Amino acid sequence: MFVADAHCDTLFKIAIKGMAPGNCTVTPKRLTEGGVGLQTFALFAGREGPKGTPYADGLAMLAAASWLDAPMLTNDLPDLPPETPMGIFSCEGGEMLEGSLERLTEFQLAARLRMIALTWNFENEIGHPAKEGPKGGLKPFGIKLLAAMDRYGILADVSHLNEAGFWDVCEHTALPPIASHSNCRWLCDVPRNLKREQVRAIIDRGGFIGVNFYSNFLKSDGPATIDDVVRHIDALCELGAEHVIGFGSDFDGIDAWPEGLGDPSAFPALLDALRKRGYSEATLEGLAGLNLWYLLKRAEREAKIK
Ligand SMILES: [Zn+2]
Repeated sequence: MFVADAHCDTLFKIAIKGMAPGNCTVTPKRLTEGGVGLQTFALFAGREGPKGTPYADGLAMLAAASWLDAPMLTNDLPDLPPETPMGIFSCEGGEMLEGSLERLTEFQLAARLRMIALTWNFENEIGHPAKEGPKGGLKPFGIKLLAAMDRYGILADVSHLNEAGFWDVCEHTALPPIASHSNCRWLCDVPRNLKREQVRAIIDRGGFIGVNFYSNFLKSDGPATIDDVVRHIDALCELGAEHVIGFGSDFDGIDAWPEGLGDPSAFPALLDALRKRGYSEATLEGLAGLNLWYLLKRAEREAKIK
């Protein structure tokens, strides 16, 4: 079964933390074992303390992709989902763009970004993070950026964005909004998770939600298990999200995960748990990868500039 993952921070580990590619959680071997045909690799902008130079970090991570032993799809996607692991680029933290559409063009030409998480955990030129409270919507550059992203066929990723920003995104994007790595707030009450009304808005627009494997976003008390991932998927499906959900593992960006779900080779175990829970093969295929795949293809079709 084709598996797609909407988020990992492996390039940050390699380019900024200096980790050897073979020591990362996401490796081509494990992707192959897990049946992952499409892995999203984030260019991650937000650093603690002295915030570094997000733009330079972005370029360093872009360069580090050549050390991965997996081809990056920087042209149009193939007609059919890949059978062997391939990568696409996303951006996590729009400060990498330094408030400039020229920077967007530069990254787009070099990386063919498929999605941009508008903020990470700090306020930037675009808007405000969920970590700093629900108020304060997108800034003028954020609104301009969304129009440019629509032209390029880049999806607006609201994971990390605050609520006011979320609703501004819904109002100002032509392409559907996505949350590449967020869970249900009503099951685990952390600001990084989505409220029911946000999930409903993503469903209405035909967007995407990637379920995050970070233990602390799955369960607020104690370590999470694979059953907690299933619980979040059940809750999303109860709202009617079965055609807009998938995975946003956050591997290489998290330090706690459900036992037995510690790296990409474990995707089949998770799919088995869902199968046992009664999900049909057609629903599982969508959830495992096709929901994300079809949305990426749609974004590509609707792009005005390539
Ligand atoms: Zn993140």
